[in-house]
Amino acid sequence: GGPKNLVMTHGCKGSVLKAEEIHQNDPRQRLVILGSGWGAVSVINQLDPKKFHVTVISPTNYFLFTPLLPSATVGTLELRSLIEPVRRLLSRLGGYYLEGRADDIDFENQLVEVVGVNDSDGRKFYVPYDKLVIAVGSESMTHGVEGLEHCNFLKSIGDARDIRRKVMENFEKASLPTTTDEERRQLLSFVVCGGGPTGVEFAAELYDFLSEDLVGYFPAIHLDDVQVNIIQSAEHILNTYDLKISEMTEAKFKRDKINVVTNSRVVKVNPTSVVYKDKSTGKQQEVPFGVCLWSTGVGMTPLVKSLVQKLPEGSQQNRHAIETDRYMRVIGTPEGTVYAIGDCATIPQPHFVEKVMDILKESDTNGDNVLSYEEFQELANKIIAKHNVLKVFLGRLDKVFEEYDKDKNGTLDLDEIRAFLVDAEKGCTALPATAQVANQQGKFVGERINTLHAIENDPVAVAALPQFNYRHLGSLAYIGGGGAALDMGQGLVYGGIGSEYLWRSVYFSEQVSIRTRLLLLMDWSKRALFGRDISK
Ligand code: FAD
Ligand code: MG
Ligand code: MG
Ligand code: MG
Ligand code: MG
Repeated sequence: GGPKNLVMTHGCKGSVLKAEEIHQNDPRQRLVILGSGWGAVSVINQLDPKKFHVTVISPTNYFLFTPLLPSATVGTLELRSLIEPVRRLLSRLGGYYLEGRADDIDFENQLVEVVGVNDSDGRKFYVPYDKLVIAVGSESMTHGVEGLEHCNFLKSIGDARDIRRKVMENFEKASLPTTTDEERRQLLSFVVCGGGPTGVEFAAELYDFLSEDLVGYFPAIHLDDVQVNIIQSAEHILNTYDLKISEMTEAKFKRDKINVVTNSRVVKVNPTSVVYKDKSTGKQQEVPFGVCLWSTGVGMTPLVKSLVQKLPEGSQQNRHAIETDRYMRVIGTPEGTVYAIGDCATIPQPHFVEKVMDILKESDTNGDNVLSYEEFQELANKIIAKHNVLKVFLGRLDKVFEEYDKDKNGTLDLDEIRAFLVDAEKGCTALPATAQVANQQGKFVGERINTLHAIENDPVAVAALPQFNYRHLGSLAYIGGGGAALDMGQGLVYGGIGSEYLWRSVYFSEQVSIRTRLLLLMDWSKRALFGRDISK
């Protein structure tokens, strides 16, 4: 059926029924959810089973508890403890799961084109929907750097397994009598490209492993043989957090002999070394590695890229995500049928440029309608305090100033500033790509469509439904040695020993099941009693 005459399915029992047949037998609305991550699962957990016929389509048949993934790379936690099967989550709803990847969406005919994950013939089929939720997440950004095939990533359970195997393999190889000193240094050098929370937490976990388990388990290896490096392009690591947290983390890493290189860009990755360039001096350096983690931010998945392109001209402007309105409805799709949430979605800020131009008038202290560099810095800091959008420009405002000062007269005039703001807004998402955001957006959409179900024919009631409002509950990163960096967004910073328990308890109460909590508890107790599991 459908425009491409593909098999029509609805994830039903036994044989594949035609869509019309299912609808005859089932009066419920067909809700299709793409993805099985944070966003998707928060929707699932909200839904009223009586109202919807739910089908989840995702290449991964489990939900992955990403915040604890770095702990699984060195054996602090077991991989299995971090996942929850989708089918188990769906059983409350009597929902269906299809292990496949959405390849395309026909918004007009309300059909998702799906290809089975393990179907070597790549056969496609359609899944029709009344309502669709796109929650397909994001992909690691490559920044066009060559040689990323030599790097490890940390996004999926398979990635964590690969890292763990490689780390243990390298420690074993380094312990062999035939390994030369130079080889040992290379095998035991870890390079983390990107100083965001994932990179920082991986480095912290590595450090814990080195300080707690290495000496006992690998007597042939001296701690000085091991080196952990973090290469960060901004001026500080954890640069989306409060500056105090960045500084506290950098100080802790310094004590731990973790080598933090800031203000540097990776130019190339060779099979066993990384080449990076100091952004201010332009000097290039090479560090050997045994394991290199690539974690430098996220961008669009191939599906999202193609969707953004096919939506009506002008409806989608952002380069990082699908734009939605304040109800998480995808702009440019038939009204009320398609939602997007989580890493793959962003809500453009209404009148962002105009609002900033208003602040600008305040920053232009001498009222001459142009900004000197000092005035521009002041403006940028003001915007950053109010909008997340410009945070990525921290630490390189001088470069921005240079780039947008088109006439090279040493000041930015109104047009030059406007050009910068327009580009800045398109190049960022309004909210960070976090589980916290995806979780809240998923809850919002779940509640909204539950409510809509009864009032859909009453436009006044529909219009009165609330908009999405993000509540920032704080950012958290594990920095090793039992300490966590916690940014509550109000300048409240907490760290040091003991915060590990806080850190754990926060993640404990999130959307995991009792089963998962028990597994995590057992892992932590096991580690406390017997150390890490260092088998491959
Ligand atoms: P995801 O959770 O990534 O889910 C995307 C889903 O879509 C997956 O199931 C995927 O298989 C599926 N999918 C992909 N393509 C398709 C397709 N074509 N068709 C169908 N399905 C598809 N955030 C925090 O707030 N705190 C943290 O401490 C934290 N730590 C993190 C640590 C690591 C190592 C990582 C990788 C991320 C961390 N994050 C953290 C970020 C957080 O995990 C993401 O922001 C969050 O997962 C986004 O949720 P999502 O639903 O948008 O995407
Ligand atoms: Mg998801
Ligand atoms: Mg988002
Ligand atoms: Mg001025
Ligand atoms: Mg100028």
